[in-house]
Parts: sequence; C-alpha cells; structure tokens
Amino acid sequence: MLNIARVALGQLCLKCGLCCDGTLFTHVALTDDEQKRHPQLGGVIRQPCPALKANTECSVYADRPKGCSRFVCMLGRALEDGEVGLDEAVVLVNELKALRGRIDALVPGPGSPLSKARQYEDRGPDSEVAVEVREARRGLEALSRRHFLGRR
Ligand code: SF4
Ligand code: SF4
Repeated sequence: MLNIARVALGQLCLKCGLCCDGTLFTHVALTDDEQKRHPQLGGVIRQPCPALKANTECSVYADRPKGCSRFVCMLGRALEDGEVGLDEAVVLVNELKALRGRIDALVPGPGSPLSKARQYEDRGPDSEVAVEVREARRGLEALSRRHFLGRR
C-alpha cells in the first residue's frame, strides 16, 4: 500500500515541480555540510532551481539537498494517505500553474514568480498592471497555503 502511494506521489511530482520552480518557494537553504560542499552557492539555491529539468525531474536527485529530500507538500501527503486521488491532485497542481502563468504573463522574464510579483508591486511602472499582479500573487499564495504548504 505504501509503495502504491509512493508511486502515485512520484507520478504527481513529475506533473508538478512547483516546489522547485519558484512557485511555492523562492529558495532552498543548504545545511552546513552542503554549504561546505558547494561554497559557490552561498548558502542557498535560488529558485527556479537550476537543477530542475524541463520534464520536472531533478538532475541531482540522488544528491539533492536535505531541504528538498525531506519536503513533501500537503497535497502529496494527502495523496499518499488516500485522502485525495491523483486526478484531483493534478487539477489542483494545474490551478496553481495557471496562477503562476498569469504572473509570468504580466511580469515576463526569469526568476521566481513570487519575487517578480512582489518587485513589480513595489516598483513596477504601470499601477494598473501592479493591481493585476497583486491579485494573481494573492490567489497563488492562498491556493498554496490551502493545499500545498499548510500543516496536517
Ligand atoms: S509541490 Fe508537492 S506534488 Fe509538487 S513536486 Fe513538490 S512535493 Fe511533488
Ligand atoms: S535540487 Fe532538485 S529537488 Fe531540490 S529544488 Fe532543485 S530540482 Fe528541486
């Protein structure tokens, strides 16, 4: 049963990648050991993570930071526990991706959508666009809290 749940989580993560691409987090903190091994990173991996491949696989999976290997989002845990089905979970992932896409469309360019949105809200040249960005950012954060980041 546990293995089936793990397989379902793996399938969901391969359709998602939101904990690596800057949608849920802006960075991953490294442990002291990891900082010693990768001093060039300066203590954090900034997201979108450069190790994230286009197919949402992690290119350093076997040696990924502890902050990554310990993390399973609330939706992933609900899937593992059989409280939500894979199809339903994918719908929620796609809802969050749509909000991310809205921010990326309003604020084009590289970087975490959360960081880009906050910067535009503070210093963006068009106040009407800033209102739309704020609405999308707040929607993204609310959905993240409700289904991905809360404690169960
Ligand atoms: S946010 Fe959750 S479902 Fe998505 S890749 Fe991360 S752990 Fe997997
Ligand atoms: S190292 Fe791998 S698991 Fe960690 S954020 Fe980057 S892509 Fe995701």
